[in-house]
Amino acid sequence: MGLRTGDEYLAGLRDGRQVWWDGRLVEDAATEPGLRNTALTVAQYYDFQHRLELADLLTYETPDGDRAHLSFIEPRTIDELRRRGAAFAAWAEVTGGLMGRAPDYMNACMMAMGNARHIWGKNDARLGENAYNIYLHCRRNDVCMTHTFVNPRVDRFAPLYEQDPYINAGIVETRSDGIVISGARMVGTLAPFCDENLSFGAPLGITDPRDSVYALGFQCKVNMPGLKWICRDKMDMERPHYDTPLATRFEEMDAIAVWEDAFVPWEDVFVANDLETHNLSLPGMKFMPSLGHHVLVKNVAKTRFLFGLAHLLAESAQVSQFINVQDRLGDILMWLNTMESLAIAAVEGAELNPENGLYYCNEGAINAALRLYPEVYPRIKEHLMQLGGGGYVSLPQEATLEVADLAIDKYYKGATSEAKDKVALFRLAWDIVGSSWGGRQELYERFFFGDSQRMKSLGYQFYDKTEATELVARILRPPQGRERLAWPEQYRSASDN
Ligand SMILES: Cc1cc2nc3c(=O)[nH]c(=O)nc-3n(C[C@H](O)[C@H](O)[C@H](O)COP(=O)(O)OP(=O)(O)OC[C@H]3O[C@@H](n4cnc5c(N)ncnc54)[C@H](O)[C@@H]3O)c2cc1C
Repeated sequence: MGLRTGDEYLAGLRDGRQVWWDGRLVEDAATEPGLRNTALTVAQYYDFQHRLELADLLTYETPDGDRAHLSFIEPRTIDELRRRGAAFAAWAEVTGGLMGRAPDYMNACMMAMGNARHIWGKNDARLGENAYNIYLHCRRNDVCMTHTFVNPRVDRFAPLYEQDPYINAGIVETRSDGIVISGARMVGTLAPFCDENLSFGAPLGITDPRDSVYALGFQCKVNMPGLKWICRDKMDMERPHYDTPLATRFEEMDAIAVWEDAFVPWEDVFVANDLETHNLSLPGMKFMPSLGHHVLVKNVAKTRFLFGLAHLLAESAQVSQFINVQDRLGDILMWLNTMESLAIAAVEGAELNPENGLYYCNEGAINAALRLYPEVYPRIKEHLMQLGGGGYVSLPQEATLEVADLAIDKYYKGATSEAKDKVALFRLAWDIVGSSWGGRQELYERFFFGDSQRMKSLGYQFYDKTEATELVARILRPPQGRERLAWPEQYRSASDN
């Protein structure tokens, strides 16, 4: 099938899926108020990849001979990683990096999952083959994916076996043709707009053999029998686009998946009842360097957008002339430069995985970027809030601007801009700084890749500290004769002490 168009994508959304919102079933995200705008944004992504003049930028010829988006590529050279990054960057530029769950994000995940077949197949080779076939299925059919990896937040302290059974999705029955599962997993961002779902449990939480039924990884259709999706509040209130420019384009919607005695055939399963394999899954599939590449490229564009927004806000009332304001703008610029540099380092310092012959982004660069952004984003948001001040609570709606005798032009213009343009700019910034959409964005940046504090803690625990501690030990050594400093081993010569 190969590359899908926006129309083909939209037609696939009306498939009887059980998406629940405000006590009722959402029949079709493409027509549902509050969701339909975002369905069109996703459709635009699919149309974008059909632009013939962009074919080499966005797509590649697969080993099957058809074309697929470059996010599906299995990178066998650093140049292929570069091409993948350029394709990510193209859509991130279109969206200002404001669409975390553009389909290319999960495409890269499916490539990483499928190419970890040596991990999934460790104890059962068939499961490894299933994983690779799931990847091929996604690439060949240009499937739009969501994912659910996290246990519901019922009790984060007690082990699962001490809690009510099947709060977390687990295997209730193993059959010759597949498994029957019940329970929930969170948070399926974009789920109402997707075709299929990838699910495995957060490996950190499953360590006791009594919990092995939860050591489960599989792929399913969003509309599979026995699966319900429960959505949060909508944040696109379908106000005029001028009034809420971001919520009317990027309402990615989050939903909890709940399975009730749902049947999953074996060919869609890649881990079952196997703690050892399950707990190897994230490092085994090189989750961070694979998806982190998309996140980092997206964050370069997002930071550039935020910098431009902050600069224009500051210019609008000439506060950009003040040194404290310039300090804030310089801070955002510093983070933009940091993200750009890390994106280069991630690719140019790529590492070959001898287990499958693929190149992955440099883990150090990716981890630094992933750990930094949950701290950087709230800081940038604070800069925007400080720069805009009371401007944010003095914004008339588009319709009010049209009322002639309110003298809007006089009181709402900027130092160098017309009232309509200045209000539009502030409304755009308010969608980041203060709207419910903006609040969810911040939560997203803080949490979507896992809780940053625990990620940092894990990074510290698993880091090889030998080089750093040997350096300290050498500096601690007292001077010997003319040697004020002990030589590192690689620089020693025969005449040294
Ligand atoms: C907007 C948004 C979109 C998301 N989209 C997706 C998605 O598409 N797919 C998906 O799978 N997930 C998604 N997530 C979920 C995300 O992966 C989780 O939020 C993240 O893993 C943290 O889990 P939690 O939210 O349950 O927080 P918790 O794990 O409950 O953590 C809450 C607090 O408790 C602390 N804490 C919890 N457990 C421990 C512990 N054992 N030790 C020390 N401290 C602890 C944490 O540090 C944190 O401060 C999304 C999250 C958000 C906010």
